[in-house]
Amino acid sequence: MNAARNAFARVLDALWPRRCESGGCGRRVDRPGRLICSACFDALPFATGPACMKCGRIFPGADTCEFTCEACAKARGRIDRACHAAGYEGPVPALVKTFKYGNGWWLAQDLADMVEGAVRSRLPWHDIDAVVPVPLHTLRQRARGYNQSWLIASGLAERLGRAALEHGLVRTRDTGHQARLPREGRMRNVEGAFAAPRPELVRGRTLLLVDDVSTTGATLEECARALKDAGAVQVWAATVCSRSQDDAA
Ligand SMILES: [Zn+2]
Ligand SMILES: [Zn+2]
Repeated sequence: MNAARNAFARVLDALWPRRCESGGCGRRVDRPGRLICSACFDALPFATGPACMKCGRIFPGADTCEFTCEACAKARGRIDRACHAAGYEGPVPALVKTFKYGNGWWLAQDLADMVEGAVRSRLPWHDIDAVVPVPLHTLRQRARGYNQSWLIASGLAERLGRAALEHGLVRTRDTGHQARLPREGRMRNVEGAFAAPRPELVRGRTLLLVDDVSTTGATLEECARALKDAGAVQVWAATVCSRSQDDAA
């Protein structure tokens, strides 16, 4: 299946050569079916070093990878484990914006490559039963034409050989632009905004939630609440990047 898709991608690449989208590079892309060339992909600001097992935040000074940070120990959140592929820096903010508001379909493969690397290296991924995207509200999805998290989640699920639950979660109301709210406002804004419409799909399972960007983690946390209310045993999260509140302006 993958071999056939790669062969197809190579044919498309030969017919319509693409230029690398990363940081104004413009070189011809040498990775089949992708929009980022291999030199730029390898140079992305991947998150390296020890990270909190629960929130995925990098703590460069930590001497072990098996720890929970102070904030997570206090907060007792519903996300059991998390990882983020890269920091919100270098070409990443522009890539994420292009992905969300422009060339979604193709860049999804590059972003799924990024998340796959983080999931395989940071999570005991063999235990994942299914991958669930953070849902968009129906109206927003209709306006955009696609749910960016689903594009990454489905690509990732295929790479990991796991089920992808496109409608594992739904957004029950439009929460507007979360990025413009301060931390407290974000928590309140998404409270009760998600539901798992088919509990039989998630009950008793270990699920991996996927989103493009995580800032305060409020959205992921509320998604995890809905999945656990429906009977999920473990909820993990993986994103392309995590950005601090300071980047959100
Ligand atoms: Zn490039
Ligand atoms: Zn933490």
